[in-house]
Parts: sequence; structure tokens; C-alpha cells
Amino acid sequence: MKITNAEVFILHVPVTRGQIGDSTHLITHWGAPGVILETDQGLRGYGYTGTHAHLPTDRLITDCIAQTYVPLLLGANPENVTSIWEKLYHFPPVQWVGRCGITTLALSAIDVALWDLKAKSAQVPLWKLLAVEEGKKLEAYNTDGGWLNWPDDQLVADSRGLVEEKGFRGVKVKVGSEDITRDLRRVEKVRQAIGPAAKLMVDANGRWDLASAIQFAERVRQFDIAWLEEPLWYDDLDGHTALAKRIDIPIALGEQLYCLDHFRSFFNAGCVHYAQPDAVRLAGITEWTRVANLALAHGIPVVAHVGDMMQVHLQLSLAHEACHRLEYIPWMRACFEEPATVRDGWFEVPQTAGAGTTLLDSALQTFIN
Ligand code: MG
Repeated sequence: MKITNAEVFILHVPVTRGQIGDSTHLITHWGAPGVILETDQGLRGYGYTGTHAHLPTDRLITDCIAQTYVPLLLGANPENVTSIWEKLYHFPPVQWVGRCGITTLALSAIDVALWDLKAKSAQVPLWKLLAVEEGKKLEAYNTDGGWLNWPDDQLVADSRGLVEEKGFRGVKVKVGSEDITRDLRRVEKVRQAIGPAAKLMVDANGRWDLASAIQFAERVRQFDIAWLEEPLWYDDLDGHTALAKRIDIPIALGEQLYCLDHFRSFFNAGCVHYAQPDAVRLAGITEWTRVANLALAHGIPVVAHVGDMMQVHLQLSLAHEACHRLEYIPWMRACFEEPATVRDGWFEVPQTAGAGTTLLDSALQTFIN
């Protein structure tokens, strides 16, 4: 099989809950710049990354795909994913200008499309291609709620509904308000609303300094918090290391880390209790798998971040033994041939061949930029 053509695209899809905010961002759409790889056997591989739907930035990603990477791909056998990945990841001009960021996001889209082709060629869903055994159950926790820009009553009613009516066993609340007492008040209200059995996570999206994170953690622990997510600036290894020594709430992070070496440093420092690698921020499924293997070796559970809106990470989490839980964000459900689906708090197992990334023509027409 040979790659014969590549078409880039940029989708901007409205998020399902109107304008939503955390401590760092306020967004109305999710962006999916990506690529469709075509082969001489008529297969089409779909891959994309995840962004805040900022068109000039998204164009940097698709330009990188089309102008830098695609010339290296044409004529290659897409089933040799690892050797292609190594060639693109170590391409000297790319190494020189950007080992993290736009070049990584662009490579992630390509790598996902390659894995999609490999699974389609094998006529199995990707999880089956990668899994050592079948029949695994994957719990969903809901992260399409808990937004920082919602008033308390909306936050509380929504959290209660996700647990009582929709069957989720866990929800996440965004924190990092200007006033720490607002965060504490909201976490307390949500804990009361969802009861003692449901898991409750809090996510500061990298907002705090070390002192604020310590103060918050000491006061929030009474509400039985499963983990504190991204308390400090994403790259602050020393800060996270100091924080982990001071607090007794587990720390989750990784959605903003760009490569295996970043994860290795954080794991070795002992400041990560839940790893949250994202295949579309790392350089694709290939590097995500290396991170998950490293986490497994360290005894750290992997709870993937889903910049892909679950499609790829559902496959990976079903396959990898470090994963037992996955976040649920349904913003792109209308886009896919077989969208990720949760029933009674558990993910259904996809059956369609590929990586779960095949886009409907209607989505390409409706959300294209
Ligand atoms: Mg997060």
C-alpha cells in the first residue's frame, strides 16, 4: 500500500454548552485541523489535532502538514507507522525550528491518519489491533460541565443531573477563580449535590502559583477530591515537585506536555499521580503509547486528555492496560461515522474498522473553514 494523496482540512465545531470557560480560556468552538491520507488501495485515513478554533493558528498547523510533512509521505507504505514517524519527527529542518508546538500538533494529525489506515487495512477497530486482551470496561467521567463561567446554581444543577440522571460516576469542576473562596464554595456545593459516592475532580488549568495551590489544596481536601489537575504552570517541574511534597491530594497533569521526555522528567520527580497524555498534543498515537508504557512502568494510571474529542483515546484506553477511566466531552459527536458513546457511565466499545476518526461528509461540509 502507498500513500498517493493528502488533503488538509480545518473544522470549527460549536461546543455543546454555549460559551464555556476555565481559568485560562473562554471558547465557543473546538478546532480540528487535520489531514485525509489517500492510498493506492482506495483507503482513506483521517487524522486531526485539537485547537481553540483560531483560524490563523489552525492554518499554521495545516500549512505545516501540507508543505513540510506531506512531501515526505507520498509514496510511503502507511502501515510502517513507526519508521514514518521517526523520519518525520527527526526531519532536520523541523527539529531546528520546533520540537514542540505547531510541528508536533501537525505530526499528531498525520500519525493518527496513519494508524487509522493501518487499522482499516487490517479491517479491525484500532483498539483491537493494539489490545493484548478484550472485554475491558472503561468508565466515563464527565468534563463537559463544571465550567468556571457558570453561576453556582447552574453548576450545581448540572453536576447533579450528570450523576443522578445520566449515570456518570465522576465529574470535574473548574477552579482558579480570582477569589479562592469562590472555588471552595462551588466545590462544596457540588460535593453536596452529587453525594459521597461520585468522584469529584478539580482542574485549575495551570493558573496558580505554588502558595495559592498549597492554600487551596489544604482547604479543599475535606470534600474528598479524587485529584487536583494542573495546579501550576504546565512546564513548572520544580513547582509541581514542591507541591507534591506539601499536599496529600493526588496531582493529575499532562494535557499540556508535548513529548515523552517531558513526561519522563515529571514521572521521575514523583509529582504525577494520574498521567493525562493527549495523543493530539504529543506527536500522535505513536508517542502517546510510549508515554502510556512509561507511566505503566512507574505504576501511574493513565487518564487520557481528549483533545481529539474521545474518538482516538477511546480506542487507546480500551487497548492499554494503564487506562481504566476516560473523560467524556461530546463536542464533535455529530462529525463521526461512529461517535464515542456512553451508556450508564460506561463507554461502549467501537466496532468500526479504523481509529474512530472517519469524518462524515456532512461534517466536512458544515464545519469546514
Ligand atoms: Mg484539564
